[in-house]
Amino acid sequence: MKNNEDKFKKVISHAKEYGYIFQSSEIYDGLNAVYDYGQNGAELKKNIREYWWKAMVQMHENIVGIDAAIFMHPTTWKASGHVDAFNDPLIDNKDSKKRYRADVLIEDYAEKLNLKAQKEIKKAAKRFGDAFNEEEFVSTNAKVLRYYAKRDEVLKRMASSLEAEDLADVKKLIEELEIACPVSGSKNWTDVKQFNLMFGTKLGATAESSMDLYLRPETAQGIFVNFSNVQKTGRMKIPFGIAQTGKAFRNEIVARQFIFRMREFEQMEMQFFVRPGEEIKWYNHWKEERLNWHLSLGLPKENYRFHDHDKLAHYANAAADIEFNFPFGFKELEGIHSRTDFDLKAHEEFSGKKLQFFDHEVNKSYVPYVIETSIGLDRMFLAIFSASLQKETLEDNSERIVLKLPAVLAPTKAAVLPLVKKDGLPEIARKIIDELKYDFNVTYDEKDAIGRRYRRQDAAGTPFCITVDHQTKEDQMVTIRHRDSMKQERVSIERIKEIINREVSMSSWLQKI
Ligand code: ATP
Repeated sequence: MKNNEDKFKKVISHAKEYGYIFQSSEIYDGLNAVYDYGQNGAELKKNIREYWWKAMVQMHENIVGIDAAIFMHPTTWKASGHVDAFNDPLIDNKDSKKRYRADVLIEDYAEKLNLKAQKEIKKAAKRFGDAFNEEEFVSTNAKVLRYYAKRDEVLKRMASSLEAEDLADVKKLIEELEIACPVSGSKNWTDVKQFNLMFGTKLGATAESSMDLYLRPETAQGIFVNFSNVQKTGRMKIPFGIAQTGKAFRNEIVARQFIFRMREFEQMEMQFFVRPGEEIKWYNHWKEERLNWHLSLGLPKENYRFHDHDKLAHYANAAADIEFNFPFGFKELEGIHSRTDFDLKAHEEFSGKKLQFFDHEVNKSYVPYVIETSIGLDRMFLAIFSASLQKETLEDNSERIVLKLPAVLAPTKAAVLPLVKKDGLPEIARKIIDELKYDFNVTYDEKDAIGRRYRRQDAAGTPFCITVDHQTKEDQMVTIRHRDSMKQERVSIERIKEIINREVSMSSWLQKI
């Protein structure tokens, strides 16, 4: 645990030191759970967004993208259920005065049971070596069975009390499990209360004529209210999807995990409209396709797992999360939800407009069912950034900090470095930059010894360093150094573009999905 905490602290300080993420309004001591992306962060975020957009929109003939406004007619949020049901159960610890989400306290408890079971499995695997049969062990070992049974029981009980809005039972469960406040260690809890997460604001100049609005808590509703516009003008046929990226706002009760849980964040969502009755087939399809998208970026597979929901939202008939192994453990990175026809039907009812599709194949109109894929761009950023940040011990026993971002996402693709600041080398380096800058983000650095400059680019996540030396003047060759392997090769200036392109071009990465 301590190790993980240290790792997380390092991630946060590295993100600041290298211009990725700053606390918002830092000169005024910051604003809680709001962050700004710096010069490198903005690029990384843009690249992740683009990688998602291309995979969704460009790569699918039947998916189109829109950009809806953040402000929406307030009835939208009545129809979607957010006014009445977008609540989190909150609980306060009377001694530490800290506020928690009751469901998260219970989920963390369940995760501890999970970890205990996994520890037993690991121990046994070590003991039995090659002869270890994990499936058999998990289904027969008394301890493991007990941990898993308890975990499932706890999560089921929570799901059913939340479903029934029995908040007293949620509190009782916390007491029965003897869950203590992580800050004070005290078990002195208040009652559990519901708290609406939407931010309100006003539209209009005078008090009498102004209208109460909400900042959208999800981008999805901008897609639903435009269903007919897009379907008709795009002549879309079922099954088809509408994608969108954009800001969303939630007044989160507990926002203590850096950019994992923010009050202003960005979502990348796609709503896929299907024939009623075919939703589970498409739900499984999108689960698989989304996981493949993540895996195409090349981080180890063990970082991802599915978590199927016991507690379904009011609109869903199936739901799963893709969880990622963040520095603080496995947590939700993306949700894949089968939302039924709940949203379109609700908007039909509240607006009085038909939101249907005439399906020539079956010769009838219906309200389509919806599969949603919803991922937080900031969470994706944190996943990639934290897993890429590594400390390596080199052959000579020295250490280097390297940010092994997938090259396709790296903010700067290459640094061009004249070995010395004289003898015409800077001029050659500048000329190389002038040729590369039309295709890639490149940077110039002439300060400090070459080894230090390499380290600086490693830590910033730059996949290539191109060094210009005296020999370059004779033979038009430079040294290209690869960030991950630290291998260096001598190549002609003419070939630099092709070499960089091979590793960073989005099209070759997209082909891996
Ligand atoms: P959680 O249970 O973590 O609060 P959620 O289930 O409410 O998340 P959804 O409503 O399904 O999340 O939102 C879809 C995605 O949006 C999430 O998978 C997550 O990546 C992202 N997201 C949600 N809330 C936040 C937030 N406060 N900060 C950053 N990203 C968020």
